[in-house]
Amino acid sequence: MATPRFAADVMLGRLATWLRLIGQDTAYGSHLSGATLLRIARKEQRVVLTRDHRLARRADVPLLFIDSDTFREQIRQVVAAYQIDPFTSLLTRCARCNVAIEEISRDEAARRVPPYVAETADRFMRCPRCRRIYWPGTHMERIRNELHRILS
Ligand SMILES: [Zn+2]
Repeated sequence: MATPRFAADVMLGRLATWLRLIGQDTAYGSHLSGATLLRIARKEQRVVLTRDHRLARRADVPLLFIDSDTFREQIRQVVAAYQIDPFTSLLTRCARCNVAIEEISRDEAARRVPPYVAETADRFMRCPRCRRIYWPGTHMERIRNELHRILS
């Protein structure tokens, strides 16, 4: 089963960020609620994620009603519902922009990261939109550990 693309309701910001961190294409923004959220989901063929009961009732697009208020429960629900392996696509998408990040060379990264990181990280990725640099390191380890806690 291919994982769908998502459109997260404005109230689900933390969930949206985490879905992006695990590589899931997730539309999110301060404008995305109510009818606008449904319209974007229809246009871009995304599954709506919401805690809005009224919206869920009138939605004419695929939708997952999120049961919990806490982001850990929310992640658990989405991962289970769509059988997502959260570890295979870690570090493939910008958490801020939702676009795929691109591998760049150590030389390119060196100007933008601390010297220690430039020397020791295995590889580097850059968001083509916001130019943020990502690398496997302590931050990714924290994310991985948190995922293990959430999903165990
Ligand atoms: Zn970005």
